[in-house]
Amino acid sequence: MSKLKTHPVPDEAAREMLRRAEAAETNVYPHGGRGYAVSVLTDKGNIYEGVSYKSDTLTLTMHCEMTALAHAAIHGEHSIIAITGPNCHMCKQLIWESALHSGIDIQIIIEESGEIKRAPISSLMPYPWPDEEGNK
Ligand SMILES: [Zn+2]
Repeated sequence: MSKLKTHPVPDEAAREMLRRAEAAETNVYPHGGRGYAVSVLTDKGNIYEGVSYKSDTLTLTMHCEMTALAHAAIHGEHSIIAITGPNCHMCKQLIWESALHSGIDIQIIIEESGEIKRAPISSLMPYPWPDEEGNK
């Protein structure tokens, strides 16, 4: 059982997150619509989008989760309560580390057959590194 705190994300907020993420797909870099977008919800109730930012080297490509977390941080918001998914495992690690810093069990928001599904990041990290005590 995780010691991280979960914040409620009502369906209405989750649907707005999904709507904003979908709308942001047109801003994927460098070619709109050819990449990925997500959004995060902060404890202040603000939503920040992130888009994938592709490098010609590919290894320097930033995933949309990375830019969304940075987008919130640029606005001074470090307490993320939810992010749209699904997310790759690199990004799950980044989301996990954000959760450890804030103490908030970030919920992954997914729409499946028109229904909102929520998965706390702790449930997706069976043997996390670092663990909740910060052990590496
Ligand atoms: Zn990723």
